[in-house]
Amino acid sequence: MTELIGIDLGTTYSCVAYMNGDRPEIIPNFEGNNTTPSVVSFTTNGERLVGLPALRQAITNPENTIYSVKRLIGKKFDSPEMQTIRQRLPYKITEAINGDILIEAGGRLYSPQEISSFILGYLKTCAENFLGTDVEEAVITVPAYFNDHQRQATKDAAAICGLNVIRIINEPTAASLAYGLDSRREGLLAVYDLGGGTFDITILEINDGVFHVLSTNGDTFLGGDDFDNSLINSIVEEFWQENQIDLSQDKFALQRIKEAAEKAKRELSFTTETEINLPFISSTEHGSLHIKKKISRSYLEKLTEKLVDRTMAISQVALSEAKVQPARIDEVILVGGQTRMPLVRQKVTHFFGRQPAARINPDEIVAMGAAIQAKIIRGSINNLVLLLDVTPFSLGIETENGGFQKIIEKNATIPARKTMAFTTVENNQRRVKIHVLQGESPRAEENKSLAIFDLVGIDPAPAGVPQIDVTFEIDADGLLKVTARDVTTGREHKVVVKPAAGLLPEELQEIIDRQKKEVATNHDKQGLL
Ligand code: AMP
Repeated sequence: MTELIGIDLGTTYSCVAYMNGDRPEIIPNFEGNNTTPSVVSFTTNGERLVGLPALRQAITNPENTIYSVKRLIGKKFDSPEMQTIRQRLPYKITEAINGDILIEAGGRLYSPQEISSFILGYLKTCAENFLGTDVEEAVITVPAYFNDHQRQATKDAAAICGLNVIRIINEPTAASLAYGLDSRREGLLAVYDLGGGTFDITILEINDGVFHVLSTNGDTFLGGDDFDNSLINSIVEEFWQENQIDLSQDKFALQRIKEAAEKAKRELSFTTETEINLPFISSTEHGSLHIKKKISRSYLEKLTEKLVDRTMAISQVALSEAKVQPARIDEVILVGGQTRMPLVRQKVTHFFGRQPAARINPDEIVAMGAAIQAKIIRGSINNLVLLLDVTPFSLGIETENGGFQKIIEKNATIPARKTMAFTTVENNQRRVKIHVLQGESPRAEENKSLAIFDLVGIDPAPAGVPQIDVTFEIDADGLLKVTARDVTTGREHKVVVKPAAGLLPEELQEIIDRQKKEVATNHDKQGLL
């Protein structure tokens, strides 16, 4: 039998754990470290490096060193976030035919899934080496606020490197599992997770072995990278003021500044002042130019306070959605490397009116929770543990005049399944377009489009007569399947799916197959285009 592992595939660092008996343990990588930089590099002699060796040569080979790929996974090239982040990436990204992102490195184009698969493959090999056995199955964690495309893309990344994902679970939920089982605490928990690229806040209740997520909220574009960028921007701006040289156009200089800024940021979590020293960062006809600059903790705090405040505003929303006052929270767990920043700890302490739980390693707890979940799924752990997670977004379809009808509401416990009846808006309408979206706006165009397909072959009938049942089903991985069925005729209809909507061909096939099996239900009808 092969071993099961739990993987925290982080933006900046990744971590892998397994269950040693009933205890989760971290598996060290080939360098002997518990965490691995989520970095992949392609050297000039055609070698592919992963982890620390890749990170080490980022300065000399910035164009072929891929970091923060988690920020790209499942995203569209023309999304506003991508257009912002693009400017700062030393490696080149281009647009795929279907609008996805492609990364140009080592003389080839790679999808973010492929790059992620190199990191997962490395962790898999580390685990196999450490455990002395094959590893084919894993639980992988994702930010709670990852959408359908991002979850699916993560699963695909695992498949590419031969890992079967037995469950995708949310990072904060994994953290709560590891914490809850270890401390045997019960009550209301807030998991505040600020990693390299994403922020999540999850409110959950632990009661008698049941881990019940009440609400989750977050921002997949808010993390430690943004703290780094604030400092990088201030250094670049100051250099421009002093020398009229724009270092943001110099990839090598920018990579050095990035590393120095991140290092300074980390140091300022433990000291009140540090120095950034970058000799020969640029030159003019008069000679070389250097950066030598003292940075205080309060300066960094001033630059980044807005980012921390954004996390607190999101936390407030999550609490309101859970219908819980901050003071009712029994324990606050901090996850993600950026929570080491004293300002983050201060603001969290002030907001919840209590100190966060001590003795938690924010870099390791998520992978440990994933390993526990793997064992729960395989039924070889305390049967009394039950995890009830939620969907972070409302899911529904476009209705007439660009409206959006939610079918499954945000924060609904998953797995979830719901059917709603719709009808035609024109006499003798032979087909309806099913446009699946995710989001909270009543306007379809303001939400994220997940898939579009047509239900064809409806019998001619006056508007409002045919009944079309649309069924949404979210599985335990948080992934959505949609089915549409014409109930009025009782006949089966072929679903024609428009390509490039982000769902994979197999998923689409599943939609078609499911349509045949659907059971009719009676609900209010709404007009469909
Ligand atoms: P994660 O995605 O959880 O690995 O978090 C990585 C993020 O945490 C990166 O942005 C790191 O720069 C940041 N980080 C790690 N250690 C510290 C620290 N001591 N102080 C502030 N940020 C840190």
